[in-house]
Amino acid sequence: MERQWVGCWAAPAGWPEKVTFSERILLHKGPHGACGAPALTVPTPERRFGRLSEEKPRVFPPTYRMKGIVLPMATSTKKSAAKKSVKKPSAGVGKSGKMIYFFGEKKCDGDGTMKALLGGKGANLAQMTKIGLPVPPGFTITTQVCIDYYDNKKKFPKGLEDDVATYVKLIEKETGKKFGDPKNALLVSVRSGARDSMPGMMDTILNLGLNDETVKGLAEATGNPRFAYDSYRRFIQMYGDVVMGVQKRHENEHDPFEETMEGLKHQLGIHDDTGLTDAHLRELIKRYLQLIKERTGKSFPQNPFEQLMGAVGAVFGSWMNERAIIYRRKYKIPDEWGTAVNVQSMVFGNMGDDCATGVAFTRDPATGEDVFYGEYLVNAQGEDVVAGVRTPKPVAEMKHEAMFASTYKQLEKVRQTLEKKFGDVQDFEFTVEKKKLYMLQTRHGKRTALAYVKIAHDMVKQKLMTVEHAIQSADPDALSQLLAPIFDRHDYEAARKSGRLLTTGLPAGPGAATGQLVFSAAKAEELANKGEKVVLARVETSPEDLRGMIAAEGILTSRGGVSSHAALVARQMGKVCVAGAGAIVIDYTKGTLVCAGQTLREGDAISINGSTGEVFAGGIKTADSELKQVLIAKTMKPADSEVFQYYDFIMKLADKHRKLGVRTNADTPEQVRQAIAFGAEGIGLTRTEHMFFEGDRIDAMREMILAETEEARRAALGKLLPFQREDFEGIFKALEGRPATIRFLDPPLHEFVPHDEKAQADLAKKLGLSVDRVKARVAALHEFNPMLGHRGCRLGISYPEISEMQARAVFEAAAKVQKAGIKVKPEIMIPLVGFKKELDNQVAIVHAVAEKVQAETGQKIKYLVGTMIEIPRGALTADEIAETAEFFSFGTNDLTQTCLGMSRDDMGSFLQKYTDEGIFKANPFASIDSTGVGQLMQIAVERGRKTRPDIKLGICGEHGGDPHSVLFCHHVGLDYVSCSPFRLPVARLAAAQASLGKTY
Ligand code: PEP
Ligand code: MG
Repeated sequence: MERQWVGCWAAPAGWPEKVTFSERILLHKGPHGACGAPALTVPTPERRFGRLSEEKPRVFPPTYRMKGIVLPMATSTKKSAAKKSVKKPSAGVGKSGKMIYFFGEKKCDGDGTMKALLGGKGANLAQMTKIGLPVPPGFTITTQVCIDYYDNKKKFPKGLEDDVATYVKLIEKETGKKFGDPKNALLVSVRSGARDSMPGMMDTILNLGLNDETVKGLAEATGNPRFAYDSYRRFIQMYGDVVMGVQKRHENEHDPFEETMEGLKHQLGIHDDTGLTDAHLRELIKRYLQLIKERTGKSFPQNPFEQLMGAVGAVFGSWMNERAIIYRRKYKIPDEWGTAVNVQSMVFGNMGDDCATGVAFTRDPATGEDVFYGEYLVNAQGEDVVAGVRTPKPVAEMKHEAMFASTYKQLEKVRQTLEKKFGDVQDFEFTVEKKKLYMLQTRHGKRTALAYVKIAHDMVKQKLMTVEHAIQSADPDALSQLLAPIFDRHDYEAARKSGRLLTTGLPAGPGAATGQLVFSAAKAEELANKGEKVVLARVETSPEDLRGMIAAEGILTSRGGVSSHAALVARQMGKVCVAGAGAIVIDYTKGTLVCAGQTLREGDAISINGSTGEVFAGGIKTADSELKQVLIAKTMKPADSEVFQYYDFIMKLADKHRKLGVRTNADTPEQVRQAIAFGAEGIGLTRTEHMFFEGDRIDAMREMILAETEEARRAALGKLLPFQREDFEGIFKALEGRPATIRFLDPPLHEFVPHDEKAQADLAKKLGLSVDRVKARVAALHEFNPMLGHRGCRLGISYPEISEMQARAVFEAAAKVQKAGIKVKPEIMIPLVGFKKELDNQVAIVHAVAEKVQAETGQKIKYLVGTMIEIPRGALTADEIAETAEFFSFGTNDLTQTCLGMSRDDMGSFLQKYTDEGIFKANPFASIDSTGVGQLMQIAVERGRKTRPDIKLGICGEHGGDPHSVLFCHHVGLDYVSCSPFRLPVARLAAAQASLGKTY
């Protein structure tokens, strides 16, 4: 994703902490001119911290939702939040409340609105039951029980076991089967289900209820002993692993169950699992049971009820497993939510050739096309489709199979019903048991950003989706995917023509990726941390690979379909992905990928096209996305780009609903034009110091810094004035009447002087000074804590002539542009103010210069003077400061470092640790620490408005482009957010979500 902001735009929210002012300028301008790539030695936060660190669940204290000014209370820790919910259980549940909700034909307790309590899966199973879809009966143990379980040292709340027994009886009644009955056994699945889905991250157990006796009954009832014993051995394997902890004991060990099975196969001379007969499976079961006994000292439980309670505990336990925690960090899911447990009677897609199982989407989740999309496997269990072990067939083929043609018709109807009743694209799992269709789960389908804009556009127009849902259901951050690179057409054609196309797999996550080939998640992380681009190739992926998938540019698998783990996760993360490229042979031991007679080794360049499924040997240049081509390069007409039209539709909806204004942080006319194309309504921050680095200007700047008298300083400033004036003219023109917040010089002066001997000698020569003088001045400018040193308004107070020059440049430019008939709205911003008198000092200079320039030019210029609120004293004395300031802009980069007492440049060394330990729920420099920094903001808003009710309030710290922070800014009552140009679509959508009441 980082390529989206590489180049000529200001770094977005979440850019690396360990970056000095000058590095930021590098990032900003690029070392190779205006559009060059930034120094790649400065890794993006995504690379350095695996992106996990900057995420956070943010639950705002209720006070933010009210218009009131009550300060939020201290951050709720995991424990206190859980405790609070026990005391005041939501919807009247808790230790004494209703712990289980049933769904079945005769009784259905829940519905689709109860996701917080029943989890997404539980609520939707209830909803599907309610609307008459064929759902096997079952029950949901609430998320509250999970919270109570953790609160109670991992013990079940009192009465849970009795309740479970009661509800098992209800399932027995509906199905006519009985738990533990050898003749007619009820078998159940036990699945997790959080409020937001966390695919594959928690544990699932199938076929529960099988034991040495019931398996015989199943064999008899189905007339298929192989099926029965295979189900039993799968159950023992799952249960042994998940509940009894029989797993590999170290990295290099194989899974003990797999090893046992391989051992038996080897002994029997059988290669394929399918070669195992029921007699073989009985032997395997014996070995599995023995393995469990050896490893745990316990026997495998034969009592189904005991099995069930063990499984419920394991599912609750899996809420806290490492991959679930990583996933929650990434997707900002609070730990406090807990998971529900769904216990549902089993149906079998693997009982024979009249059975099948599948996963489908009501529309294509990669492109958004209105086509029935999905895949199925005949004679298989659901896990087989998702795990990608066998490559399934497209669901559309079902209609051509005599056995399933009528099921297909039924599925088509289900597809329509789901969209109509759920108001969105749904994904769903189904099983066909002896030609009868069962629905096993549904949820809003995860989709790419491209699919999101198309689906929202189409379904709103078809009146299947409400405008509110179209806005609220988006992940604003994912919009950046629309700016994802595509292959450079010429390079791509050349690669095809020269025979570098190795194979074509399944297009599973759109976009173009190129990088070094790696075969393990660890290697992917290692290289990405060094700033390298990598493509991760795996036979298939599992949740263990999550970190590597996050680090990689793209993911390639040789097995599995478009619903495999790799594909689902990649799409959700906006990663390029090619799945199921079956012609590829990956050998982890040798570290090779062999295809079409070519062998690629780890480290070789490889390119994949996740929109077409193509895999190429070697690198291919990537090019701008269509959106960029339309909006920025203007090499494509809007009418020729469907993507642009869908995007535009959504942006217009967002603009209609949002209350927050959106501005941009931009320093050049070019950036301003780009920002306007992305919807900027003005500039929220121009960092004037960036302009001093262009061309020869740095010499005049250095001359000014080295000057020892005011006169000499003024002479040097005189050289800078025309440059600044020209810059501002360009900016005012590009803005075409929109407001421009221009900040006066902020960084400490030592940032501008050379530090190595040669450069100092060169400068001395250029300025006709002695090297010693240059050295002495540089030494004098050295500060131990420059960020807390001689910077911001402190510079303008020490050297008023600098502020004078900057004010003159602004007003002369404004006068000139205004005279030419273009409206101007300068807003001069004084940085780092903590005392009203600091601001008074600088404002007096601004007014005096304004008066002079107006008299000289005869132009009356309307302007504002305000300040940044970026140190705590400024926030706390905002009532005094507002007597002078006509606007505040929150500099949350500095406000965060000064509030937390953590340097924004030096926190990289402990950020990961702090995130892992849960001290930070997210990187506070990427996402506002609403309970700490947020309080300062709330105080400043409240006190500023008390003094000056119409004071204009904005934010220009990097948080302005972070959806969670935008939400906070809305609730705290700001007028606008300002962010880098490419984050604007994200900010616009997040702002609309905020006004529609979204909370996180
Ligand atoms: C800030 O501190 O939030 C800000 C915008 O200023 P800078 O990042 O330039 O210090
Ligand atoms: Mg600042």
